[in-house]
Amino acid sequence: MNLDISSLSTGSSTSGSEEERVKVLILGSGPAGLSAALYAARADLNPVVLSGIELGGQVSLTYTVENYPGFPEGVGGMELVDLFKKQAEKFGARVEYDSAGEVDFTRRPFRVKSVNGKQYLADTVIITTGARSVHLDVPGENELTGRGVSYCATCDGWFFKEKDVIVVGGGDSALEEGLFLTRYADSVTVVHRRDQLRAGPILVERAQANPKIKFELNSVISEIIGNGAVQSVQLKDTQTGKVRHKPVDGVFIFIGHTPNTELFKGQLDMDEHGYLKVDQLMQTNIPGVFAAGEVADPNFRQVITSAGMGAAAAMRANHFLDEHGSA
Ligand SMILES: Cc1cc2nc3c(=O)[nH]c(=O)nc-3n(C[C@H](O)[C@H](O)[C@H](O)COP(=O)(O)OP(=O)(O)OC[C@H]3O[C@@H](n4cnc5c(N)ncnc54)[C@H](O)[C@@H]3O)c2cc1C
Repeated sequence: MNLDISSLSTGSSTSGSEEERVKVLILGSGPAGLSAALYAARADLNPVVLSGIELGGQVSLTYTVENYPGFPEGVGGMELVDLFKKQAEKFGARVEYDSAGEVDFTRRPFRVKSVNGKQYLADTVIITTGARSVHLDVPGENELTGRGVSYCATCDGWFFKEKDVIVVGGGDSALEEGLFLTRYADSVTVVHRRDQLRAGPILVERAQANPKIKFELNSVISEIIGNGAVQSVQLKDTQTGKVRHKPVDGVFIFIGHTPNTELFKGQLDMDEHGYLKVDQLMQTNIPGVFAAGEVADPNFRQVITSAGMGAAAAMRANHFLDEHGSA
């Protein structure tokens, strides 16, 4: 199913003004952002959500979510975030199809300029900009992206019916996406740099039991080769250094995520990997600016934990407004 965008606004046209004053501005529309929106809306704070370009966040790329409570049969990723969105909107949240382009947290009200040119003056800001896929950074990767190189099996699996594909990575995402690709592809080869997979035991068992999945451990891709479409990869043995070619039609890369925090550099404290630092109450180093979900969570990175952090951040924003009022 497609995420329902019929009720979305675009930043500059909604209010007819280039500037808007809001009590709670939420950056990001993934599970953390939409959960924060639900809680802020139910506190009567009329939150505005800037969706970013990935409406619904990373989980919207996932075919099915089996570990979110309340859905014993599993639920589609897009369907889940669409339900999140509808529930937040029911209580008064407004989702704008726009992104934060510049932020100024030096004084209240905080200033956020959207990429559509609208200026928000916000009493509180909740940052839920999540994370994004890490690239291999090997020759051929950029040129062949969309021509056989993909970061989303749910989006592109359909194009690989009866083809041979590689999945790069050894974590949960790699195996989950690899298993999904077996619906289409004739073979799925998981390439992982170490001798052991990092994924949880249930996923590893499922992958090992699937006759379409093969493993190339202790291996990395050093080049992706193709003329207009992926034709082969150069595989390098991480122990012997030996290089060989493997013919393949697609390369799906799932080697991790990096937090979307470039916008906040110099203003908010971050750890060495760029994740925003928050205290137990989701507060960043700037009072009134909160962060939730994967943007501030290098550890759990799940829908339920991100949603929980989003809800907590909104509760604290409400508390902050009770204590400090509008700027
Ligand atoms: C392939 C895959 C499968 C997964 N499967 C599962 C699963 O089965 N179960 C599970 O629990 N978890 C799963 N996850 C993890 C889960 O999707 C994430 O933990 C969750 O989406 C994180 O939520 P978030 O709201 O913190 O961030 P994200 O989902 O990353 O959302 C970030 C949001 O911020 C927006 N944004 C970015 N920059 C800006 C900006 N400048 N201005 C405004 N908005 C911005 C983006 O558009 C997006 O809407 C999976 C992840 C992937 C990639």
